[in-house]
Amino acid sequence: MSSSAHLGVPVVLSGPSGVGKTTIRNQLLARYQDIVASVSATTRPPRPGEAHGKDYLFLSEEAFQEGIRGGMFAEHAEVHGRWYGTPRGPLEERLEQGADVLLVIDVQGGLQVKEAYPEALMIFLLPPSREELHRRLSGRGEDSEETIALRMKNAEWEMTFSQRYDYWVLNRSLEEAVSQVRAILVADRCRRERARVRLSRLGLSWL
Ligand code: 5GP
Repeated sequence: MSSSAHLGVPVVLSGPSGVGKTTIRNQLLARYQDIVASVSATTRPPRPGEAHGKDYLFLSEEAFQEGIRGGMFAEHAEVHGRWYGTPRGPLEERLEQGADVLLVIDVQGGLQVKEAYPEALMIFLLPPSREELHRRLSGRGEDSEETIALRMKNAEWEMTFSQRYDYWVLNRSLEEAVSQVRAILVADRCRRERARVRLSRLGLSWL
């Protein structure tokens, strides 16, 4: 099926580690029944509290490479020395059902999604400042100083891709960021509805 036949669209949410992507995704999922999220595959080990199949599909390096060869991923990329990918099957299935599917992925993956699904909504989440980003990364208490330094360096690099995204959301407060992402989604649905009705006409003679 060509991507234009899909009813839903992929919603790509990217931004540097620690900017709050996962928190925003969880809030959107908790509040809005019409948003679903893709569960990524990764070769990184689970963090405490993370569950296989819910937070990620935790795969071995071999299984992941096998997945790449078999065309299992809609996009995949190496991030901080580990592999991450969006399983293609579940994504396509949800899109065909008409769901908008949230993909919390890095910039390399985001650009691959835009290439494969030109209708994808591209949202970049920005931290209020560099200092605040460092504070949030340290505050998670999950990563070593070395890992945090690597993530800060990677953040600078990821920010250079922000120009390729359609929307920027500054994460000053969780409430504001969640409502802005929601507003972008709702507005885009109205735009798609217009295109859909005009195409089918649906016997609506006044349109
Ligand atoms: P973490 O290991 O902290 O959960 O995620 C590290 C980075 O990998 C984040 O920037 C996250 O957005 C990215 N990531 C998570 N899942 C995927 C995916 O399926 N594809 C790509 N390209 N990046 C992902």
